[in-house]
Amino acid sequence: MSHIFPRNCRQSPPVAVGGDGCYLIDASGKRYLDGSGGAAVSCLGHSDKAIVAAIKAQADTLAFAHTGFFTSEPAEQLADLLVANAPTGIDRVYLVSGGSEATEAAIKLARQYWVEKGEPQRGKLIARKQSYHGNTIGALSAGGNEWRRAQFAPLLLDISHIDPCYEYRLRQDGESLEDYGLRAAQALEDEILRLGPDTVMAFMAEPVVGATAGAVPPAPGYFKRIREICDRYGVLLILDEVMCGMGRTGTLFACEQDGVAPDIVCIAKGLGAGYQPIGAMLCSAEIYAAIESGSGFFQHGHTYIGHPTAAAAGHAVVSALLDRGLVQRAQQQGEKLAERLNDRFGQHPHVGDLRGRGLFRGIELVADRDSKAPFDPSQGVAGKLKKAAFEQGLICYPMSGTIDGRTGDHVLIAPPFIIEDTQLDELTDKLGRAMDAVI
Ligand code: PMP
Repeated sequence: MSHIFPRNCRQSPPVAVGGDGCYLIDASGKRYLDGSGGAAVSCLGHSDKAIVAAIKAQADTLAFAHTGFFTSEPAEQLADLLVANAPTGIDRVYLVSGGSEATEAAIKLARQYWVEKGEPQRGKLIARKQSYHGNTIGALSAGGNEWRRAQFAPLLLDISHIDPCYEYRLRQDGESLEDYGLRAAQALEDEILRLGPDTVMAFMAEPVVGATAGAVPPAPGYFKRIREICDRYGVLLILDEVMCGMGRTGTLFACEQDGVAPDIVCIAKGLGAGYQPIGAMLCSAEIYAAIESGSGFFQHGHTYIGHPTAAAAGHAVVSALLDRGLVQRAQQQGEKLAERLNDRFGQHPHVGDLRGRGLFRGIELVADRDSKAPFDPSQGVAGKLKKAAFEQGLICYPMSGTIDGRTGDHVLIAPPFIIEDTQLDELTDKLGRAMDAVI
């Protein structure tokens, strides 16, 4: 009998025993094509010798040193490498162990920034519906996914949620994409004015929405207008690139494609590529300076921040992404994947929308293409699709999301950047067969 507390208490998942490039292998020898990199984690595949060697070397030299006493070479090197390749103005890196820790730290840093600046009345955070920022209480409060939030409501922080930029469902007939992007961004200004501009500390959003919606990119101009609005009212812009960052969308930081630089940006998943648990919160020189010249101490921390072995893995991963041209490869293979998905599912009666950037692709499933009516939640389409794909030997990431009470099913595709053309064919074929079995 197992003593593991599993994710789903009613399932006994197979035991994973090996990884080979884009494949995972279970104890029976069955191979699974990792079409979603777990949850958009495994950007380098599963057996990258350079990353394993970097981890071994660091563990041999120094596995851990507590940041209450020391910094370490790998942590310093990773911070330098990230800042050298980060959006304009980003200057400091706070290394944590995962995505929720990064977003939680971002929320607390934004708050402390305003306290240090002498504006303690700025304590309100605005985020978006149809978003996920992590599962710790602060991060969960910032997220807008009703299903994940529901039973924890009494514990959650009071955070405003505006409509997301979700062209497939929220753009009006006859409205251009650009006009829609501006209208969607206007929701932020409206909310800032409603709350009172001098009470708002920050706005938090995923540049390309991942887990709750299936790779929804913003409309052109949306984030530029968001940046303008934040600047107009002195509100900090926090971008959550935990899922869409680290090359996944075809640029190292997803926001590069929107021509904006945030005040704080969170990364994780692809940063460690699954080889070590690591995330990071990066902030501007200005925010750092406010803390440094104020109390001099960020009132936050966890035992494993700046973990040397995890940092060595992160440094090896980011070096691999840059030195091997893998970010460009994510862009190129992403175009090929989009073509294949379009050929296979473009006319599918239950596919409402195909979207995404780079190797971050989403398929929105609908009961009816014309009315865009979602499937009845009781059908559990996302769960059945996950199971059917798994049986075929394909790992993909179907889920259901909510927006204003409506549930919709999506599939997220986010394979390793090393994926070959033949494996893109395999992915599309297996997904097609799984869809045929379910809808
Ligand atoms: N933010 C985003 C955008 C995410 O997709 C996730 C994880 N799915 C998180 C935060 C939380 O990351 P973690 O699971 O590593 O805590």
